[in-house]
Amino acid sequence: MLQKTHGLAGLLAAELVVFHQGVPLLSWEAAGALLIGCFAGPLADVDKPGSVMAKIFFPLSALLHVLKVKHRTLTHSILIVILLGLAASPLPPLYYWSFLLAYATHPLIDLLNERGVQLLWPLRFKIRLLPKVLAIDTGSLAEVAFRWLVAAAAVLLLLVKLDIARF
Ligand SMILES: [Zn+2]
Repeated sequence: MLQKTHGLAGLLAAELVVFHQGVPLLSWEAAGALLIGCFAGPLADVDKPGSVMAKIFFPLSALLHVLKVKHRTLTHSILIVILLGLAASPLPPLYYWSFLLAYATHPLIDLLNERGVQLLWPLRFKIRLLPKVLAIDTGSLAEVAFRWLVAAAAVLLLLVKLDIARF
């Protein structure tokens, strides 16, 4: 999936955390959490040479490259989510959960891709959720539709929480 799709998924995850913790939407805390979500969503693609995340976190992406860590392996695994969960534990709960859940959305939605993810890395087999014909290829029309769905969910959640829309 593209960076903007992952960014939106991360935003949606952080939005859920903000609302779950009862943080007022128009506050610095909420803004910080949503920003963390936008960044943490695409972060796993730091393993992809040339990606925006690889450029932003250059020393880290260079290290992954030197260590021959391939795309959709270590940074897309359950193991790294657990390790990041431990490393980020000093953060306040709002930022901790916004970061961790937004990060976790990345390997989860990459499971919809036709190439799959080494979710159980260091075990090397790839996991994919959809059969090849239904899988969402990076940059495809299906990804655009998926992105719009995530964006619609984020906006709808916002409207419901602001009491503008009701179901
Ligand atoms: Zn990815």
